[in-house]
Formats: sequence, C-alpha cells, structure tokens
Amino acid sequence: MMSVLSLPPADGLVVPSGSMAELRRRRYELARQVAALTWDLGGLTYEMAVRDHYRLDVLARRAAELQEADAQLGEVQRLLANAQDGVHGQCRACGAVHSRGAAYCWHCGAQLLAEARPVVLGVDSIPGATAPAG
Ligand SMILES: [Zn+2]
Repeated sequence: MMSVLSLPPADGLVVPSGSMAELRRRRYELARQVAALTWDLGGLTYEMAVRDHYRLDVLARRAAELQEADAQLGEVQRLLANAQDGVHGQCRACGAVHSRGAAYCWHCGAQLLAEARPVVLGVDSIPGATAPAG
C-alpha cells in the first residue's frame, strides 16, 4: 500500500461529500488509477505472451478492476459536465450525488443500479396510466 497524497491537510476546511471540488479531485485520482491499471494490464499480458502461458483468471480480475475504475471515472466526468443538471440521485451508502444510469458510486464504489431499478419501473403501478396518445 502506497500513499500518494501530496496535498497538505486543509485545516478546518471540510469538503462536503459530492461537491464539485471533490468531484474534480476524484476525477484526477481516477484518471491516474485508470492509466496505471491500463499500463499494468498491458504489462501483464506482455509477460504472459512472452512465456506463452496465459492466466485468464488473473487477466479477467485485472480487467474487472480497470472496468470499475473506468466506470467511476466516466460517472465523475458526466457529473462534472452537467453540474447540477446531471444529478439524478444520491448514494445510499455515502450520500454522494450520482447521474442517471450510474452503475457504481464514484465516491465509495457502492453499486447503484440495483437500488435504482424499482423507481425506474414504477410506471406500471400508477393507477389509470394508459398508453401515450400518438
Ligand atoms: Zn457512495
């Protein structure tokens, strides 16, 4: 485990969860993480190719890690691009905002899609709901 935090601790300054400042910092962290994981995966694949011995379980695990970080990065970028208009809800685990259709919380990594589904499919339960007129 390696600590890469180079910023001095801000005395008395509490960044609210899901604020734009925190989003920007998280985007930077995630971009670095995605770049590092991509590099790792490439190196790992190369090593395996050289030895002509592919460990698919290892590659799949690394790829899943990269995919999750990449999804979180996309989410942060979406939120930053749309600012407040892009906010669709809040993470139940940590309270950070997330956009529509987000799979993972960019802040704590909690899964979001499963808990969002009942809200999205709630149309059936509305009494008197009919097919839209053409
Ligand atoms: Zn969260």
